[in-house]
Amino acid sequence: MSDGNPDVVIVGAGFAGMYATYRFRNLGLSVKVIEQGSDVGGTWYWNRYPGARCDVPSLEYSFGFSEELEQEWDWPEVFSAQPDILRYANHIAERFDLRRDMVFNTRITAVTFDEARRLWVLETDTGETWEAPYCVMATGCLSVPNKPEIPGADTFEGLELHTGLWPKDPVDLSGKRVGIIGTGSSGVQAIPELAKEAGELYVFQRSAVYTVPANRKAMRGAVQQEFKDNYRRIRELQQANAGGVSNFRPTRSVETPPVTSIRQPRALDIKPMAPDERRKLVMERGLNQLLNFRDVYTDPEANEIANNLFREAVRHMVEDEDTAEALVPHDYGLGCKRQVLDRDYYDTFNRDNVTLVDLRSNPIEAVTPEGIQTADAHFDLDVLIYATGFDAMTGALLKANITGRDGQTLNDKWAYGPVAYLGLQARGFPNLFTVTGPGSPSVLCNMLVAIEQHVDWIGDAITHLKSSDQLMEPLEASETTWIEHVNEVAEGTMYTTPSCNSWYLGANIPGKPRIFMPYVGGYPRYKDRCDQEAASGYPGFEFS
Ligand code: NAP
Repeated sequence: MSDGNPDVVIVGAGFAGMYATYRFRNLGLSVKVIEQGSDVGGTWYWNRYPGARCDVPSLEYSFGFSEELEQEWDWPEVFSAQPDILRYANHIAERFDLRRDMVFNTRITAVTFDEARRLWVLETDTGETWEAPYCVMATGCLSVPNKPEIPGADTFEGLELHTGLWPKDPVDLSGKRVGIIGTGSSGVQAIPELAKEAGELYVFQRSAVYTVPANRKAMRGAVQQEFKDNYRRIRELQQANAGGVSNFRPTRSVETPPVTSIRQPRALDIKPMAPDERRKLVMERGLNQLLNFRDVYTDPEANEIANNLFREAVRHMVEDEDTAEALVPHDYGLGCKRQVLDRDYYDTFNRDNVTLVDLRSNPIEAVTPEGIQTADAHFDLDVLIYATGFDAMTGALLKANITGRDGQTLNDKWAYGPVAYLGLQARGFPNLFTVTGPGSPSVLCNMLVAIEQHVDWIGDAITHLKSSDQLMEPLEASETTWIEHVNEVAEGTMYTTPSCNSWYLGANIPGKPRIFMPYVGGYPRYKDRCDQEAASGYPGFEFS
């Protein structure tokens, strides 16, 4: 067992674990962070694939807990690339001396509640064990890469990569025959960059994607300064916005408004517009316009109007007719999945070295030592890239092998879907907290805003508990009514239509229960609920 056990063990040194370290220390708590990677950064540490970038504007996707940090940090682009976000993470780690409480290259193998001693015991793959009265799982929502089970997958003799586990050292793809499976956010970002380097690029697509052009502007000094001058107001605006985004528009900016993957529909409806007017808007001002409409996300008829306009635009952009047709999504609508943003995605398919393989008409039969065998052909590959996503939201928690009171495992408790209160705690797991857990706004919110709110709430709860040496866990009724509410607000949105198969619903992982996991009721409403709990002495929880 390790010397110097802390008050709180935090699992994960991504942005959640980093802020928790800072915050808990300031509350007078001792902490220890256990991290599988060799350094801080979480998502931005692991996802180093070419083209990786954030889909929330840089000045919004930043911490608000330190005014000095806000003022001293400069972002080079309106939407940041992965290396810049990782630099930001490293800067925070250094500035606040976070690494001194972090243990890297260490994977948690079991998290077990010792009832007699009222402690959480965390076992690791290095043999070291950590114990603490409080455990905070800051393990991220998209941190367990999904590699689908394809026959022969382990036989491939070339280089195999996953976008979510991209190597630190540069990968030389020049002149190589590269195959990529998956056309979600990661694939769509990677494909245009891979195409520039690879000799041949084969894109294996199962579902076509709705993707719109990302804002790709460099940051203007005046705009950055105006943000810095107004950061307190901007943080207030973030707190009042459903997606935790301020939408602050600098007066000195001549930029077109940023487009973010967090849905920000204006109070406009597409259905009442004349067909010519709609078409003109999209053809002249771009696909992004479709994201501005409110009814596209709530009214199936309006949704299909937007889907058709989108399809028409894709046919216009892609030269080869068969390729264009395969790139057009038919079986689900805009707003069902996380909005994807791209840089030159459709143009990439006009390149001579890029081939789209439509898996709907020509499915993968097997991975072979030399490449991929589909029903119609064999594709010889030097490199095979999986851009096949993640076991989202519950994956990392279930993989941690958590056992609570009375020997109950989290895997058993969540066998039919995640059961928790406010995405913060699950009954039977006292004094164990989750940051941005299922049932909280998490992935539907600006993640840094969601993280700060959760960590602050957990820090206050631990302070409250520590003063009286108590155990805390939600009442069964709190979990039940919260889950009913989470389901109720998701119903009737495009997210949960029967044709929608997204990772929000767990539908990307075979056998995973189909449950809409994030809270769609909006960040302010959610935060109010959390604040009320704390202000009224945590009535939804039981203390012992
Ligand atoms: P994803 O959205 O789940 O996409 C995975 C892709 O792999 C889909 O096209 C999927 O096809 C395909 N796939 C999965 N299993 C397959 C199989 N057996 N055979 C063929 N194709 C298969 O994963 P992601 O692209 O990594 O993105 C996940 C999330 O991470 C995003 O939604 C976003 O929240 C976040 N992200 C954000 C950014 C950003 O900030 N810009 C970038 C990357 C990721 P189907 O659709 O048919 O299942």
